[in-house]
Amino acid sequence: MNDGPRLKILTHAFERRDLPVRPGPVEKAVRELWSPDMRQRLYHPRHWADWAHLRRHYDLKEMTVAELKADFPLGRLPDCESCDDVCCTGPMRVVLLRVVDVAAFMDAGLTDHLTLEKPVFNAQELRQNVALQDLVQSEAWRTLPVLRQDETRTCSLLAEDNTCGAWPFWPLSCARFPYSLDLLRGRVFYADSCRSAVQDASRVGRARERGLIEAVVEGYNQRIRDAVLLRVAQRELDALGLGRFIRWPGSRRH
Ligand code: SF4
Ligand code: SF4
Repeated sequence: MNDGPRLKILTHAFERRDLPVRPGPVEKAVRELWSPDMRQRLYHPRHWADWAHLRRHYDLKEMTVAELKADFPLGRLPDCESCDDVCCTGPMRVVLLRVVDVAAFMDAGLTDHLTLEKPVFNAQELRQNVALQDLVQSEAWRTLPVLRQDETRTCSLLAEDNTCGAWPFWPLSCARFPYSLDLLRGRVFYADSCRSAVQDASRVGRARERGLIEAVVEGYNQRIRDAVLLRVAQRELDALGLGRFIRWPGSRRH
């Protein structure tokens, strides 16, 4: 628990849509990279090994909001305004970025907050947190950067007044929190680590809920896209300047 000022990250995903924020040039270019042509590259003989690898480890089908059910009562939402906790700090907290997050950080001039040096979790921490265990075993963990933390494991973007310095360029993992994906059961669940919730089934509350579920889906779909792009679009990503934030999967470089 934190006795300091309350966290004011009230601005969840749907509110970003309402802001006059448009993707900057790098984010826009990365989003435009994803095309049927890019998927087709996977089937070129040059990428057979990549295709075989991805088929073994991923279901490359993207998800839709309609496929997911919420595992909690209607309109359960984080109540950041009255929350005594700060969820951007803690021994088991880490934010792994997607490629579009890295691009957005480049546009926003926030790349000093990215690092490829990952925190190390001990066996007990990993046993306690299956989602964290899955994360550190993933290819995304090996290839993509995390948000830098200080020695207390606090996100370097958390300001003194407990506001978020990344806003409105929120990484997808922050935009969907505390909604989380249970892929196996096709459900969205509400993370136990968020201890302050309200029930708001009004039209506004449902819109916020929808925005958070959309952020869960986007976070998942971007991970699928990253898995493909990092194998077939290294040249393009490098040309956009993203190469310095990525450890390319496999031994081959473009
Ligand atoms: S723990 Fe939940 S309610 Fe508290 S600041 Fe974080 S997201 Fe908001
Ligand atoms: S980017 Fe912002 S919301 Fe995400 S962990 Fe850092 S301070 Fe918290």
